[in-house]
This record gives sequence, C-alpha cells and structure tokens, in this order.
Amino acid sequence: MPICRLISQEKTHAPILLPHLQSVVLGRGPETTIKDKKCSREQVELKADCSEGFVNVKQLGANSTSVDSEVVGQGKEVIMKPGQLLHFVNAMYPYTVQFKAGPSSCKRPRETSSNENKDCPDVPSVKAPKKTEHLLTSGKTQVSRDKHENVGHWSQGLKASMQDPNLQVYKDDKVVVIKDKYPKARYHWLVLPWESISSLKMLRDEHSSLVKHMHQVADQIVKQCPHAKSLDFCSGYHAIPSMSHVHLHVISQDFDSPCLKNKKHWNSFTTDYFILSQDVIHMLETDGKVSVKEGTSDLLKLPLRCHKCRTEFPTIPALKQHLKSHLPAECTS
Ligand code: AMP
Ligand code: ZN
Repeated sequence: MPICRLISQEKTHAPILLPHLQSVVLGRGPETTIKDKKCSREQVELKADCSEGFVNVKQLGANSTSVDSEVVGQGKEVIMKPGQLLHFVNAMYPYTVQFKAGPSSCKRPRETSSNENKDCPDVPSVKAPKKTEHLLTSGKTQVSRDKHENVGHWSQGLKASMQDPNLQVYKDDKVVVIKDKYPKARYHWLVLPWESISSLKMLRDEHSSLVKHMHQVADQIVKQCPHAKSLDFCSGYHAIPSMSHVHLHVISQDFDSPCLKNKKHWNSFTTDYFILSQDVIHMLETDGKVSVKEGTSDLLKLPLRCHKCRTEFPTIPALKQHLKSHLPAECTS
C-alpha cells in the first residue's frame, strides 16, 4: 500500500502523513505553521485513499478552501488527486498530495509497464482512457458498487465515479459516460469530460468542440439503448448543478424511477432548469459562455406538471401514477 503525504508548496514545513482512510484535521497551528486568522484551526479535513490514489478534502472552516480553481464550500467535499493544488484558505497556503510506495511495496521486480500503477502508484491507479471503447450496458442493470460504498465518501464525487471502470459505460480520449448513481428515469447517464472543468459556468468558446463531442456521445449512447425507438430521450445540463465536474445528463423521458422522489427532482429535468445540450452549444458559439437566467432556482418550486400533457398534479405519487399512462406499450410489461 502506498503512503500519502501532504506537501507544502511553500516548503514551510515537512510533509504531513495522511494515513489510509483516516481523517486528518488541519488548519492554523504549528503543524502547518499557518498563523493567518482567516484560516480556522480546523480548516480542512483530509482523508486519503491510498489504494485508489486520491484525497477527500472537506472544508470545515468558514473561509474558502479550494482545489485548483474549485472552491470546496463549508461542509462540502471535493476529491483531490496528485497534480492538483489545494489552497487551505482564500487561495493561499498551497499544498499538493503525493502517493509514494510504502515500505513493503515495489519489492517485486517490475514485469510490464501495465503493472506499474498497481505497484507504485505515484500516479492514481486509474487506467488511461483508450482511444475509443464501447462498453454500453443495459440501463436497468446495476453494476456492483460495494467497493466504493465501503470507502464512504465515494458516492459523493462524480470525479471519483468517472474514474471507476465498473461504472463506465463508454469512454474515449475526451469523455467518459457513467450511469447516474441515483437515476431519475429508466435510463439515465452522465457524460463527463476527462478535462477538469468544475461547472457549466466555467465553459468558454474554446470548449465548444468538447461540448459538441459530449452531445454526439450522448446521441450514440441513446442509439445503442434497447429502448431507443420506444422512449424519448433528452440531453442537457442542470442550470445550477449540485455536483462538481461538468456533466451532461442523458435521460429517458419516462421518469419511471424510485430515485425520483420530490418536486425538485421533477422540476430540475422538466423545466428550463434543464438546459438542453443544443442550447449550451449555441450559447458557447454565440456568447462564448453559458448564461443562467436570474430566478432559475425558483423553477424548482413550480407546481408539478406532466411534461407531456401539462396536467398539474398535487403530489409526486399522483404524477408518477399518471406518467404510466404515457409509457409506450413495449415498456409496460
Ligand atoms: P446535478 O449536479 O444536479 O446536475 O446532478 C448530479 C447527478 O449526479 C444527479 O443526477 C445524481 O443522481 C448523480 N450522482 C450523484 N453522485 C453520483 C455518483 N457518485 N456517481 C454517479 N452519479 C452520481
Ligand atoms: Zn401527461
């Protein structure tokens, strides 16, 4: 098992050991030598996963902790990997993490280069994306996630899920597709770029070709779906996403899923809160950025209306019962 060390980029102190799956709380104090009052004594909680090669960063303090350009947010968590920069507070006090072979690792003679990551994961033990790989599996099939659920925070990060070969249904050199962990319909995938782009608002005109590629991959995934002809599908982005790392939702319009539980879920996919992929491409090409209208968050509070016939329903169970009437015959057995 490799060991993980937190390294001050300003070299103000020796590396701090982050033991495997143990929470380490750091902030202002002698260990980091940080004296800045804006940095809480308990600013960050770090938990390294030495077998997978990442560190979970939780911001405890009130002032901003960031990983690369992404602000973590108080009480929130972000996955950090070697090569990324952690700033303890207000873009100051930069740190990196390093995974180095532990004392008992790397003794075995190296065999082939493909084994290197397993034995000496100075880099995360993640397979580099192959040129083009088609791995589509049925939307209803649940893949095993036990390994990740044991890790605890694994389910909180798309960044972590996208790296997991068990969750990947398609990947190429630019993007990866995973099944949504809490699908809001019979088929619900997420298309994510390998490039680290935290959210829709970070997209600029130079991302146009990437976003178009994400759109094409979404179409391709839908085409390979066994119900491609009987169900409708939409691809789009949540105007105000809850998860970090930009992701394109590809979702069948049956909304037949136990994970669709509340008004917020419903309205996030059936109102203008869901910005269609074509519209994002258009905005990038014309304005060089994606604009989210003021008041967009209020769309989540709109009354429950069927997206097909616009009938209003008082409750989610009533709406869901009604949605069955829109299911094509092929999908009702
Ligand atoms: P949003 O950020 O609102 O665009 O939506 C994030 C989506 O990610 C939701 O549809 C969640 O069900 C889904 N999700 C949350 N955690 C994970 C995960 N670890 N792996 C895959 N999907 C996830
Ligand atoms: Zn209806």
